Amino acid sequence: MIITIDGPTASGKGSIAKAIAAHTGYFYVDTGLLYRAMGYMAAQEYSRDEVDRAMFWAPELVETYKARLAYSYADGAAVVTVDGSDVTAQLRTPEIDWYASHVSSVPMVRIGLRAWQRELGSKYDVVIDGRDCGTVLFPHAPHKFYLTASFEVRVKRAQADKIRQAQGMTPEAIAAAVIMRDLRDLSRPISPLKPADDAIILDTSGLGLEASVALVLSYLL
Ligand code: C5P
Repeated sequence: MIITIDGPTASGKGSIAKAIAAHTGYFYVDTGLLYRAMGYMAAQEYSRDEVDRAMFWAPELVETYKARLAYSYADGAAVVTVDGSDVTAQLRTPEIDWYASHVSSVPMVRIGLRAWQRELGSKYDVVIDGRDCGTVLFPHAPHKFYLTASFEVRVKRAQADKIRQAQGMTPEAIAAAVIMRDLRDLSRPISPLKPADDAIILDTSGLGLEASVALVLSYLL
């Protein structure tokens, strides 16, 4: 069984997807975390300028990065290791937001991660969230959701994030980063963010986590 949950930045899809996984007992795949890990490795080697210009990565580089990476999900937690070390806590910083947003529009990176994400989906019953899970990764998934919320609500959610606050980002800088990430996801030629034709579109603007989870579950029963 495959349940896909796509949506824009700060739409709440990650928390909702995790809760649905807990409820169903399914394996949770956070595809954003994989792109974040690719961005993390790129950040160790390349400046922003270099990444900005590098639209055509060598397949070997993607394969090398993938070989350094492992994803697991246990006891409600998604964990990513790079070279055997748990780096999950380092992947949700504003710096990695930037790198992940950029490397995820590189075709080689997306193609390189695609087979792996599909393999996870074919091995387990999964809840998988991201931007292209229902459109590209699993176009035949029986349950597809596209979660969204108004721009104002998404910005407020991003501004409430403790990591961004701790890094001294101003509310304006956080709003600008949400706009930048939205624009990149929506406008890239490969796997742009959009709802699958057969996705159930849910707006969570006026809903808390519990109500959002209950709404998604009501479609699964
Ligand atoms: O979901 P999250 O915000 O953690 O994802 C980090 C970045 O990875 C996003 O800004 C988006 O550009 C990219 N991403 C993607 N496709 C996915 C999941 C994430 O392009 N399936």
